[in-house]
Amino acid sequence: MVDLTTQYQRIRHEIDQAVLDVIRSGRYIHGEAVGKLAAGLAAYTGAKHVVPCANGTDALRIALVALDLQPGDEVIVPAFNYVAAAEAAALLRLIPVAVDVHPRTFTINIDRLEEAISPKTKAIIPVHLFGQTADMEPLMHIAHKYGLFVIEDNAQSLGSVYTFSDGTQKQAGTMGDIGVLSFFPTKNLGCYGDGGALMTNDKALAEKLRMITIHGQSQKYVHQIVGCNSRLDTLQAAVLQVKLSYLDEFIQSRRKLASWYDAGLQSMSNRIETPYRLPESSHVYNQYTLIVNENRDGLQQYLKEKEIPSTVYYPLPLHFQPAFKDRVRIAGDLSISEKLCRSVLSLPMHTEADEEQTQYIMNQLIRYE
Ligand SMILES: *Cc1c(COP(=O)(O)O)cnc(C)c1O
Repeated sequence: MVDLTTQYQRIRHEIDQAVLDVIRSGRYIHGEAVGKLAAGLAAYTGAKHVVPCANGTDALRIALVALDLQPGDEVIVPAFNYVAAAEAAALLRLIPVAVDVHPRTFTINIDRLEEAISPKTKAIIPVHLFGQTADMEPLMHIAHKYGLFVIEDNAQSLGSVYTFSDGTQKQAGTMGDIGVLSFFPTKNLGCYGDGGALMTNDKALAEKLRMITIHGQSQKYVHQIVGCNSRLDTLQAAVLQVKLSYLDEFIQSRRKLASWYDAGLQSMSNRIETPYRLPESSHVYNQYTLIVNENRDGLQQYLKEKEIPSTVYYPLPLHFQPAFKDRVRIAGDLSISEKLCRSVLSLPMHTEADEEQTQYIMNQLIRYE
């Protein structure tokens, strides 16, 4: 599905040097690279403050803690999603409220949002899935109307840009109160292990987020609030600093592969839908996800026989997960999420694809009966 080692080979001189520098410095925790990465990410995204942490799931939990949500408060999450947002909420005894997604963008369905809001609702977590943003202008409008916090789960879409109706453009993760990043190896900006970060434009909130990642500490051994230990390793920050300088190039490579897929799959448009692009958002293709209207599993099996990897992100909606089915409040009909779980299929997507490999994938797909 992804080729991480070829990418490494291409930039290894810089990576090796950066990693060696950290090892030789002896500063493995909160070393120089961590602060530099945060500054680099702030410059790249336009976020005023970036707080690195240990992984994206921690970032979601830290965000919820910082916003002082209390047990029983409701947090709206898309039903078609990775588990992390609902998990972070449930661990804090908040109630995840599952709302349906849009059938073509896969992101939270704006038309269903207001009916999901109750007097207990405190926050919305839109998830910028597969590389494009949720429809943030109407979402922010609803959030303001009801006084709700917005935490953007931007684990998959760093670098995508949303255009508001007045022409203003904002990077994914910088539109709500807090934006969350993951540097898991397969994300668009991935390290060689785990990593994450929080973004915000609010200085006081940034200080609080930072404090929570270091045991709620305001000064050494003085713990102001209950926090946790969630640090980004200096080694990972050093890797990420190198890779951030290539992020735009990586995104271009992903877009090129997506355009090859688009062109190659045109003749199959009666059977599979290629990714729909929200006009307001650019796409950075963390995934290239098809909708297969009939017999998705048959197509996946066929691809497997041809040694073409493919993955179902995600096979179960939130409200069907054993751990969550009794913990979520179901807001209305979730049939689009349920249907997507039966029909989506993601093709290999990474920065190192060549035209020949892609042509092979296309040729096999087109021959599928
Ligand atoms: C990867 C991912 C996360 C979690 O990130 P980790 O760094 O693996 O904890 C959260 N949300 C979404 C949508 C993701 O894709």
